[in-house]
Amino acid sequence: MKIIKILNNDLVNRLHIGFIVGTTCNYKCHYCFDGCNDGKYRFPSDFELIKTNLSHIVNVYKTNFNKTQIRIHVSGGEPTLWPMLGEFAEYFSKELGCKISISTNGTRTMRFWKEYARYFDDIGISVHNEACDPEHVIEVMDWVYNHEPDVLINSTVLMDPFNWDRSVELAEKLKSHPTPWVLKVRPVLFNGQLLHFTKDQLQYIKDKVKKIPPEDRIERYKELQVIQSNEPDVVAFTETGEILKYNTFKFLENDWQHFKGWKCNLGIDRLSIERDGSIQGSCGAKNLFGLLSPLSIYDSLLPEKFKPEIVKETTCPMNYCICATDIRMTKENVQL
Ligand code: SF4
Ligand code: SF4
Repeated sequence: MKIIKILNNDLVNRLHIGFIVGTTCNYKCHYCFDGCNDGKYRFPSDFELIKTNLSHIVNVYKTNFNKTQIRIHVSGGEPTLWPMLGEFAEYFSKELGCKISISTNGTRTMRFWKEYARYFDDIGISVHNEACDPEHVIEVMDWVYNHEPDVLINSTVLMDPFNWDRSVELAEKLKSHPTPWVLKVRPVLFNGQLLHFTKDQLQYIKDKVKKIPPEDRIERYKELQVIQSNEPDVVAFTETGEILKYNTFKFLENDWQHFKGWKCNLGIDRLSIERDGSIQGSCGAKNLFGLLSPLSIYDSLLPEKFKPEIVKETTCPMNYCICATDIRMTKENVQL
């Protein structure tokens, strides 16, 4: 069986913008991506420039590509250490109607979360086994869950094959805590693959949702469109014309996440502002829209350069997709 096309219908009206705001982090996880916590890229300081340029990008997609839902996902490093984060979230949610989400290790003080949680639609706390204080994670999760009911607060324990017992201990501790916020587990991938795990460990990870809120809270999240009605499958077409539906885990298990040379909707459905400000793919592809060198969010001439005409599919230059959403994105093997 050979898959030649993947189609993702649920992203048609949605643009996802990942914004990596630097590489400063207060943790040093051994499995962290290269350079993610080295402090080399400082947090952006020119807030007016970010406002102008990112608003321009948002408006290009809204006006020309019918992107009615713009999601901005902020990450780092540890993004809550960026002093302008609250102002950023407030501006882009209120003024441009964007949905703002964040990946954080959750270590900022309760004072921070009480002041800024309201400006986010989705707060994802990653639980890292080496340094995590589960009591603090629980305190933050509980406060947001109880005081900001429209904010999807969720935690994900990164399951580390090199510190498996501690990872399970953390997951089970959070699971047994009575407040029913979302709790998931996710494997730490090495070279984009499920390496080093035993069969039993994979079974534990496969059952990835460990705790969910009651039905009325879930319905509210669905109304607010911060979660989808169902966990979407990958819709794949084979060369013999079969249409298959698999979850993304199946792709990882079978090592099917390799699409080099395929034409991919990266740049149409999804783009990423990297740690140095370059506008590229979430997977690391630098040739977004077929450009030889990436545009930069910190370029004062960006509004002149980022015209609707440049937006088009990307030819995949990468060895593998690094996340489930990238695997699910529409793409086609044009090399046949
Ligand atoms: S918390 Fe995240 S960014 Fe920081 S070291 Fe760990 S994996 Fe890297
Ligand atoms: S690695 Fe990037 S460019 Fe290649 S298929 Fe995945 S998302 Fe698309």
